[in-house]
Amino acid sequence: MIPSLLPTYNRVDLAFERGQGSWLVTDGGERYLDLGAGIAVNALGHAHPALVQVLADQGAKLWHVSNLYKIPQQQTLADQLVDLTFADTVFFTNSGTEACELAVKMARKYWSDKGEDRARIIGFDGSFHGRSSAGIAAAGGEKLTAGFGPLLPGFTHLPFGDIDGLTNELAEGDVAAVIIEPVQGEGGIRPVADDELKAIRAACNDAGALLIFDEVQCGMGRTGKLFAHEFPGVTPDIMMVAKGIGGGFPLGAVLATEDAASGMVAGTHGSTYGGNPLACAVGSKVTEIVADPEFLAEVSRKAGLFRQKLEGLVAEHPDVFESVRGSGLMLGLKCKAANMDVLAKCYDANVLCVPAGDNVLRILPALTIEDEDISEAITRLETAAKAMEGQSA
Ligand SMILES: *Cc1c(COP(=O)(O)O)cnc(C)c1O
Repeated sequence: MIPSLLPTYNRVDLAFERGQGSWLVTDGGERYLDLGAGIAVNALGHAHPALVQVLADQGAKLWHVSNLYKIPQQQTLADQLVDLTFADTVFFTNSGTEACELAVKMARKYWSDKGEDRARIIGFDGSFHGRSSAGIAAAGGEKLTAGFGPLLPGFTHLPFGDIDGLTNELAEGDVAAVIIEPVQGEGGIRPVADDELKAIRAACNDAGALLIFDEVQCGMGRTGKLFAHEFPGVTPDIMMVAKGIGGGFPLGAVLATEDAASGMVAGTHGSTYGGNPLACAVGSKVTEIVADPEFLAEVSRKAGLFRQKLEGLVAEHPDVFESVRGSGLMLGLKCKAANMDVLAKCYDANVLCVPAGDNVLRILPALTIEDEDISEAITRLETAAKAMEGQSA
């Protein structure tokens, strides 16, 4: 008999009742060190006092009004994001998936308005852009798309890092946009090299194609920059944001240049919940805190510390782990043993990581993780590694 919850998730037998910073407490009172942060969502950890305050204050005043009316909290957050980034304009969604939908629609509308037959979108293997029909078509992976055809047409996929292939595809003249995560998340924490992102930007410029960055996972301070594309110093035409921006409240956004957004006039797109006062009040506070250069410098310092300790862990346990990769506090432990087996031992050691493709365990802690919790994380990961070695011996 089908369970009352549609069984689309492989859930672990853990239920949490409350959280504080980098710690989660089960309904039975057991403490877990959270290195997953709701998959890079709880950017400021659990129950951050400033977020609890803004949620309570706004919650007592007004949760939701329709986008039929002006929403000052939405205007404030849009102005913050425009000030902080390449973007001239912002649309708010409830999720990364919905941001993907708009990014694709915006790119196609751009060319349609110019009277050009350019609808094709190029993506890369191993990517993830959400679970909607456009999201799975954009990512293209068999695990996402199998059984859900006919897929939304007009998507082409290239091997990760295939710049020559990209140049060839762009030469066809029918490409609306290229979509890429500057650091692949679900695919296994694979950063795109700085010179590759630069080459992709240059190839798009040469062909006149739009460039979409999916910074849903790698954005909002995760890498130590507000957005990961600040490292190579190239900007997209359209960018998807979600996860960390709401700090746990569902919120996403599409950021765009004036030119790329030119087709999206009144009546072309909308969302009932997107950008409501409660979501934007919280998102605005998250953005204010995360965009502070001192906060970002601390993320980079903690990331350096964490990474150095993880390198030591990998060196000590070569049968369990192969390498450390990633950017900032978006870290991946490439495993030698099966990542799901290592993850089971992590649960036994009361530490939470997140599995990813390419046999990787993701480490995506709260950006506010304390130094002592980084040390504690290594101790617990060490316990998990030893349990793996005990098992294989
Ligand atoms: C999580 C994720 C999405 C989808 O976001 P949802 O909020 O789950 O819809 C899209 N792109 C990337 C890179 C992601 O990590």
